[in-house]
Amino acid sequence: MGDYVNRLMAQLVAKNPGEPEFHQAVQEVAESVELALARNPRYVDAKVFERTIEPERVVMFRVPWVDDRGDVQINRGFRVEMSSAIGPYKGGLRFHPTVYLGLLKFLAFEQVFKNALTTLPMGAGKGGADFDPKGKSEGEVMRFCQSFMTELQRHIGQFTDVPAGDIGVGGREIGYLFGQYKRIRNEFTGVLTGKGLNWGGSLIRPEATGYGAAYFAEEMLKTREETLEDKTCLVSGSGNVAQYTVEKLLDLGAKPVTLSDSGGFIHDKDGIDREKLAYVMDLKNVRRGRIMEYAEKYPGVDWTAVDPAKHYNPLWALPADCAFPSATQNEINGEDATNLLAGGVYVVSEGANMPTVPAGIEAFLDARILYGPGKAANAGGVAVSGLEMAQNSARRAWSRGTVDERLRTIMQAIHGTCRRTAEEYGVAGNYMHGANIAGFTKVAGAMLDQGVV
Ligand code: NDP
Repeated sequence: MGDYVNRLMAQLVAKNPGEPEFHQAVQEVAESVELALARNPRYVDAKVFERTIEPERVVMFRVPWVDDRGDVQINRGFRVEMSSAIGPYKGGLRFHPTVYLGLLKFLAFEQVFKNALTTLPMGAGKGGADFDPKGKSEGEVMRFCQSFMTELQRHIGQFTDVPAGDIGVGGREIGYLFGQYKRIRNEFTGVLTGKGLNWGGSLIRPEATGYGAAYFAEEMLKTREETLEDKTCLVSGSGNVAQYTVEKLLDLGAKPVTLSDSGGFIHDKDGIDREKLAYVMDLKNVRRGRIMEYAEKYPGVDWTAVDPAKHYNPLWALPADCAFPSATQNEINGEDATNLLAGGVYVVSEGANMPTVPAGIEAFLDARILYGPGKAANAGGVAVSGLEMAQNSARRAWSRGTVDERLRTIMQAIHGTCRRTAEEYGVAGNYMHGANIAGFTKVAGAMLDQGVV
């Protein structure tokens, strides 16, 4: 079986050229899955993993819209429907200038295993566009969303494919997308998650990914009979995931000290408290400003601008106990990982998808720290999306307490599954192998049952 990963990767790269993030994501999972294949020849004979890396369907489309000056703009939209083995395709939409097919294939692929881990019946997909909502007016964002949904609506549906938010797609965008879907299809169904509370959304959905990442860290710490109380925490990003990670860290008695955006990061040695977090939420979600303004508002806060000449991020070189990367993929490189370890970090709970490069993961695993990979640690978001779908189907709305309790239980279950699976496969303490193998075996079992489709 030793050559299996090499052969598979050579074929994958030849067939999907110029998609490094997709290659990276598959390689990581393939190395784990090799352990499962060795124990179950049926997976090998039925080419289960080879099928998992080929999307069931990819839709790519033109998104024309008119900006405020009356000029025509053209973006490219996508939906990657990766796997429907255990449920309807499910996964977010990303609006960011860096979006291209390979990026969405990596995200859709990660989603396969993450969704399987949630214990809920959800397949996997991901979509988006190379549209940058930054600096656009409300009217421009709305017209773009309407044009995007005019095509996407043909391919999605409550029983087929249920998108949600991701980078650049929050409550505002989901509202415009849902409005257009309803208008064209003349039906009010749970076709998107992350909806507003008074039109089918679930309490705790906006909070879910960040809360879940903090719960996952809490569970990992419990294995060493520790808690998050008084732990100094580095958080990157300042969007949806970062904001609610900070909120839950405060609930659990920790001390978050950093936030960032694509311009740089703030370091608040006194800690980001609830009042400062409320300021950040207003700054980012309402005024749509830059995190640098935090340092202008609060004295004693350090601001560090991004320096493209540096090959490491000084945020990850600050002394701390825990790190919650919550911005984007590959934001922790090998040097950053070394700096984190040198600074005392021994808990990494990934809110973002694939934020750590392979060399960084290797450094964490070698150091035997508590490393929670994104597909486990950030699964709370899609889990509560699943709960939103359940509430929509039942035409009911659960209380905040009920949803938060279920989220916590799901995160505990995911943690337990990863831990047990790692032990079972002789790699105790390795949550990465645990998450990949547990997610894979669930999907593989369903694929075997359903025949060659
Ligand atoms: P948001 O758009 O709300 O926030 C993203 C944050 O990350 C912003 O602060 C943004 O800064 C920063 N960022 C994005 N891209 C880059 C980049 N290339 N370089 C530096 N900074 C960047 O997105 P979310 O919080 O929803 O998503 C963050 C991460 O979490 C992503 O990896 C996403 O896939 C993952 N995730 C999200 C889930 C969700 O429920 N929302 C669920 C599971 C995972 P700026 O504004 O300057 O671009």
